[in-house]
Amino acid sequence: MAILVLGGAGYIGSHTVDRLVNTGSDVVVVDNLSTGHQSAVSEGARFYEGDVRDQEFMETVFNDEAIDAVIHFAAFSIVPESMKTPLKYFDNNVGGLITLLEVMKKHNVDKLIFSSSAATYGEPTRVPIEEPDRQMPTNPYGESKLMMEKIMRWCDQAYGIKFVALRYFNVAGAKPDGSLGEDHHPETHLVPIILEVAAGKRDQLTIFGDDYDTDDGTCVRDYVHVEDLAMAHILAVSYLENGNPSRSFNLGSSTGFSNLQMLQAARKVTGQAIPMVMGPRRAGDPGTLVAASKEACEILNWQPEYDDVEKIIQTAWNWYQQHPNGYED
Ligand code: NAD
Ligand code: UDP
Repeated sequence: MAILVLGGAGYIGSHTVDRLVNTGSDVVVVDNLSTGHQSAVSEGARFYEGDVRDQEFMETVFNDEAIDAVIHFAAFSIVPESMKTPLKYFDNNVGGLITLLEVMKKHNVDKLIFSSSAATYGEPTRVPIEEPDRQMPTNPYGESKLMMEKIMRWCDQAYGIKFVALRYFNVAGAKPDGSLGEDHHPETHLVPIILEVAAGKRDQLTIFGDDYDTDDGTCVRDYVHVEDLAMAHILAVSYLENGNPSRSFNLGSSTGFSNLQMLQAARKVTGQAIPMVMGPRRAGDPGTLVAASKEACEILNWQPEYDDVEKIIQTAWNWYQQHPNGYED
């Protein structure tokens, strides 16, 4: 039986596919390459180019392959873009999930691992955030992910499709050998942007806002290494295979770093000055997002290897130096 990875040509998906293949799983990848790269997909996986919203195409994949479980990464995920084009986000993210669930129901596939997000919480009521805490998104991207969690809950009740929603906090880093990494166009995430400035590809970093209610006034985020995240998906598949109930897990490190602290850490790792200017707030950004991940550690037996942002940035820098133009190199 195979594991279907939707969005397996993307940043987190490609690392997860690589891990799955290396641990002996039979892996099928579906991706429309809207933001992903076919060359990021392990040669050990079978690749289908197509859109998760295309039910006819999805039916052919489920007819041709013996799918046992689905890991669903395929979505748009840029917060500022979602503020400007919310319908694009609801169409791709929510629409894609509805088609997927229709096809899973029809083919009696009842295990789904889902990429959820810290963005479903919005401004937290306490820090670190625990899974039952209030979810009140501050942007359409987070809203789409919360809607998807709710849709899966009702489909579990009605059709018995079990799910694990993994709420990632800020994902960063790359495969340590530098063969896989983050390559988005345009890039909007903090760590790769800082490294582009370090490498001289951009003139300066703009930090979005220093008037938040945090120690240094800049936003605080919780960084988790992409390889640790990949491992959590494999554990989540086992969790459902063992007959456990649907639920959500936070995936973070339980430690927050401000945007200024991330800049300092990157200066240390790269040895570069990394010029910075302070800019206005970016719309839709909550001030602080830090996860309590003890449930994932205790219940999934998740044991993250990277507990240090400098090590995370080091792996991203390693990838960047080997692939300054991303997968085009
Ligand atoms: P990514 O853009 O690199 O990967 C998404 C992949 O899905 C791409 O390969 C893209 O081509 C594909 N895709 C998108 N829409 C599709 C569709 N309709 N049909 C088929 N393929 C489609 O993004 P990523 O950073 O790897 O994120 C993966 C998932 O994790 C997303 O669902 C995102 O919301 C979630 N997430 C990411 C972060 C983060 O920090 N990167 C944090 C929280 C949650
Ligand atoms: N950020 C920034 N400058 C940039 C990109 C990001 O100051 O060029 C900030 C952003 O406002 C947020 C943090 O870095 O406070 C993390 O943003 P990112 O887009 O990496 O992830 P998000 O938290 O939105 O998922």
